[in-house]
Amino acid sequence: MSRVVVVGAGVGGLAAAVRLAAAGHDVTVLEQASVVGGKLGTHAHDGYLFDTGPSLLTLPHVLEELFAATGAPLEEVLPIRRLDVACRYRFPDGVEVDLPGDAAAVPAALEAALGPGRGDQWAALVARAARIWDLTHGPFLESPVGPADLLRLATDPRDVATVAPWRSLRGVGSTYLTDPRLRLLLDRYATYTGSDPRRAPAALLTVPYAEQAFGSWYVPGGLGRIAVALTDRLDELGGRLRTGARVAEVLVAGGRACGVRLAGGEVLDADVVVANADATRLYGDLLPGRAGRAGRRRLRRTRPSLAGFALLLALDDPPPDQPHHRVLFAEDYDAEFDAVFGRRGPARPAHRPTVYVSVPDDPAVVPHPGAGAWFVLVNAPRHDPAGGVDWDRPGLREEHADHVLEVMADRGLDVRDRVTHRTVVTPADLERRTLTDGGSIYGTSSNGARAAFLRPGNRSPVPGLFLVGGSSHPGGGLPLVVMSARIVADLVGPAR
Ligand SMILES: Cc1cc2nc3c(=O)[nH]c(=O)nc-3n(C[C@H](O)[C@H](O)[C@H](O)COP(=O)(O)OP(=O)(O)OC[C@H]3O[C@@H](n4cnc5c(N)ncnc54)[C@H](O)[C@@H]3O)c2cc1C
Repeated sequence: MSRVVVVGAGVGGLAAAVRLAAAGHDVTVLEQASVVGGKLGTHAHDGYLFDTGPSLLTLPHVLEELFAATGAPLEEVLPIRRLDVACRYRFPDGVEVDLPGDAAAVPAALEAALGPGRGDQWAALVARAARIWDLTHGPFLESPVGPADLLRLATDPRDVATVAPWRSLRGVGSTYLTDPRLRLLLDRYATYTGSDPRRAPAALLTVPYAEQAFGSWYVPGGLGRIAVALTDRLDELGGRLRTGARVAEVLVAGGRACGVRLAGGEVLDADVVVANADATRLYGDLLPGRAGRAGRRRLRRTRPSLAGFALLLALDDPPPDQPHHRVLFAEDYDAEFDAVFGRRGPARPAHRPTVYVSVPDDPAVVPHPGAGAWFVLVNAPRHDPAGGVDWDRPGLREEHADHVLEVMADRGLDVRDRVTHRTVVTPADLERRTLTDGGSIYGTSSNGARAAFLRPGNRSPVPGLFLVGGSSHPGGGLPLVVMSARIVADLVGPAR
């Protein structure tokens, strides 16, 4: 049995802790915040319950496998619900389409809403995406990646042509899709990794494929329950959790990780340290000096992912018959990406951003029937008071919140006179709550062909120190973070 210390109780840290406890290790999770979950946060107000982070669960089998492998199956501890309509999209010309939650029904829905040929074009693109998924999910997403894996993928020229690592998501999409609205739909999936579709690799075609093939899911009571279920499982397996415990340093002796020092000075010895803390902070602050140098050097070559600006709206008598998820597309999506990534000028909040709205049809999250707990999210530049946007500038959060509500109204969703209470969550708030640099949602972005291979690996250069979660391989988003936990548990191995 090894003594394992996990730094951070985000989904990645908790999932790794659960697996390692199930494998027989002596596991302690240290979380700096007073609550668990990290970016999978919740906020309660006067009988309303909001998810402040994820609102969409994809690839549910990844979570199912975790629970099945470590005790009782997921359905016994956390029932989840598949959505009939994945999302309602509103395009700049005012046309709307309800994208079915069943992949087979998607082409017909696109054909009916957007015109002849559109369904076939989308189906051809998704067929290519399915081939990329088959080629990459095992050797890339579910394995510790390195240059050798890249070479293994490259042995068959037909496979290389399918994955087209030199092409962007936008580029490959435009060879299949002639309708600008379909291109917008595809572009949107780049933001699932916090990236710009003009720079994200074509391999991100797997994102719409995975969403449509495996469905869009909701957790009744809110996605925050995933963190509760993981914490319960850890407890059942004998793992320990300490909140309010901030790790100040990962200790190294004889070239190996040997424990951690907490901010108050307490030292915990360990045989294995698993860092769920943001990789930039790990290599920048927690592992000073030579030990973190290689990690810092590699991170300097990456671009951080975009951040998010969220509104949690308590609504009285909201408009009826809302789909669970809705996207109101920007009139100029490129201008939005230029603004939030700081191309053609400094980073700035997008003038007319794409707006995402999540409206759970769930009595558990509202105080009474006829009330609504709405989550509104727009892409935002990172919090960067030194060289970019200072989200703590007095007045900015309320100004931008008003502006987002106005943009929604312009696009046919005016709820301004129904809001009884609102809470604004800026990138600066997320940075403070989760110690994530700039409040980036997904660690490093996938901007650029080499991004996936520059992302910090799960095995650090320091023996005995591993990285788990969205800022390390294979990246952000709940399913990928849970996959990273499995990779780390496999690297550590069972207790002897
Ligand atoms: C607004 C928003 C919307 C999102 N929407 C979706 C979605 O719909 N679907 C989806 O799949 N994903 C979504 N995501 C992404 C998803 O939430 C993340 O990828 C995932 O939760 C990251 O988990 P993690 O464990 O990697 O990291 P985190 O959640 O960041 O957890 C890291 C933990 O480590 C702790 N920590 C950091 N430093 C220390 C330290 N020094 N000592 C002790 N503890 C420390 C932090 O407090 C935190 O709890 C969204 C994220 C956000 C913010």
